[in-house]
Amino acid sequence: MSAYKIIDHTYDVVVVGAGGAGLRATMGMGQAGFRTACITKVFPTRSHTVAAQGGIGAALGNMADDNWKWHMYDTVKGSDWLGDQDAIEYMCREAVPAVHELEHFGVPFSRTPEGKIYQRPFGGHMSNYGEKPVQRACAAADRTGHAILHTLYQQCLKHSCQFFVEYFALDLIMDEDGSCRGVMAWNLDDGTLHRFRAHQVVLATGGYGRAYFSCTSAHTCTGDGHGLVARAGLPLQDMEFVQFHPTGIYGSGCLITEGARGEGGYLTNSAGERFMERYAPTAKDLASRDVVSRAMTVEIREGRGVGKENDHIFLHLEHLGAETLDLRLPGISETAKIFAGVDVTREPIPVLPTVHYNMGGIPTNIHGEVLRPTEADPDATVPGLMAIGEAACVSVHGANRLGTNSLLDIVVFGRAAAVRTAETLKPASAHKSLPKGAGEQAVARFDRLRNANGSLSTSEIRLSMQKTMQNDAAVFRTSKTLAEGVEKMNEVAASLSQIKINDRSMVWNSDLVEALELENLMDCAQTTIVSAEARHESRGAHAHEDYPERDDTTWLKHTLAWVENGKVRLDYRPVHTYTLTDEVEYIKPQKRVY
Ligand code: FAD
Repeated sequence: MSAYKIIDHTYDVVVVGAGGAGLRATMGMGQAGFRTACITKVFPTRSHTVAAQGGIGAALGNMADDNWKWHMYDTVKGSDWLGDQDAIEYMCREAVPAVHELEHFGVPFSRTPEGKIYQRPFGGHMSNYGEKPVQRACAAADRTGHAILHTLYQQCLKHSCQFFVEYFALDLIMDEDGSCRGVMAWNLDDGTLHRFRAHQVVLATGGYGRAYFSCTSAHTCTGDGHGLVARAGLPLQDMEFVQFHPTGIYGSGCLITEGARGEGGYLTNSAGERFMERYAPTAKDLASRDVVSRAMTVEIREGRGVGKENDHIFLHLEHLGAETLDLRLPGISETAKIFAGVDVTREPIPVLPTVHYNMGGIPTNIHGEVLRPTEADPDATVPGLMAIGEAACVSVHGANRLGTNSLLDIVVFGRAAAVRTAETLKPASAHKSLPKGAGEQAVARFDRLRNANGSLSTSEIRLSMQKTMQNDAAVFRTSKTLAEGVEKMNEVAASLSQIKINDRSMVWNSDLVEALELENLMDCAQTTIVSAEARHESRGAHAHEDYPERDDTTWLKHTLAWVENGKVRLDYRPVHTYTLTDEVEYIKPQKRVY
């Protein structure tokens, strides 16, 4: 087949990714008796989930009256009605048992004086269908992701799941009948190539924040699962919806959690004005993220930014007092000191909206099954392939994700993937033989890239891509910037053929890892900007200045984007305008005010 030696493995299930989503799925598969392998390019507890700060959303009602139906309403409204309401109903209802399950697994949540799980307010979480803010974010201080990730890893070990750590997934193994049969991977430590055969492959590879120049996500968030899917001829969904978090630290982009505003922090402009009162009279600083990010951008554009260049905003926490800061926001206090040189007990933190989350991704249904929509069946699935977590688009976040709903998404749908697999597959079922030449394409791509001898370094091409995204697919977009962005991005994508790899070794070759990641990022960047250019309305995180209104008549639909021969082709599928059960009714689109 090739000069490379391939090592074969056979499992019932292979999960790619060991963040919160991957670990919850891996654990569930192990618990259901499946022989399960989890492949991850970084050690599990180094996955990006470890950085999640503020909390996980669930209407436990520990601090005040709450109800999962109010949570559902807030999530639909937060999504600007692009979310699928059957999926949102499922997630919000399952949130309560999911958090209790995490508690029983051993997650060290912060506690109220009565010993209940502590909950804090977060943006867009309201009681009684939008009346006033409610405390719904279940928190382990400001290190909630860290606590969840470590606990889930321990649970996986308990269920004897097998980990392949520092293995880089290269490509899916697809059969002629359209089903997925496994995945190819490269062991970074000893340079060997591996063919994993499985009945079920679950992609849990996280987001693609690194397509932008400035983001809050880890350097590992490179949209690898998105790339695998795009190369398998499958579409990505709603990629134009990229969330900017209002409070990235000015300069470094490091995140200051929304929980900081949940604890009483607030934003001011150069006049010292708490300007959010003008933009969101009820929720104020706790309005939805897209609303706050746009308000901050308008303040800066209109000359009311702070600092020498009037180009950022202040976040005040000093009035909260050292004791509260130490108890509730210890990590944030440290981050502000290190990355902004600010003592939060005395002075405000300089902040700026920064790329934070990808609402779009690999389209799936509520069981995690990946969609291959056709005209006849917009919900048709790909046998043997699932996607969960930030890599996926279920779609519960629609056009804008509410804070705390991602940690929720990863555990709810991680569990759902395992439950569905247990319903549809028996442990240790016989495997069909693999298709002829299985994995050859992946090896050929790997070999081509490893020996690439063009004139441009990975970092040069990556920088051009990141700058284009940062400038042309920003908080506010126009027809002009988007059209220019599409043209530039097509050129940048074409320049991949000129890539040069300096290191030909098979072991710990970071040059080659970054090139593989860049190919994946490029699919994400291209589909994002092309999908954005086509959507002639403003909805959630997609704020189009030439089309400032939401247009439900034409645009209440999901974008599908295929990458074909270096170009993007678009189509659309309907948003689910129905609920899962009769317990709740479809929430009709309304004007979105906070
Ligand atoms: P990740 O945790 O990113 O894991 C991806 C996994 O895939 C990793 O194990 C990686 O090794 C693996 N992988 C990727 N590519 C490959 C490959 N090619 N081969 C093998 N393995 C691969 N959300 C909330 O709800 N509440 C919060 O308080 C919150 N705080 C946040 C704070 C920060 C700073 C940021 C940036 C985000 C925050 N979020 C929060 C969002 C949330 O943390 C993420 O959306 C979520 O953790 C994503 O989890 P995941 O399991 O999908 O992916």
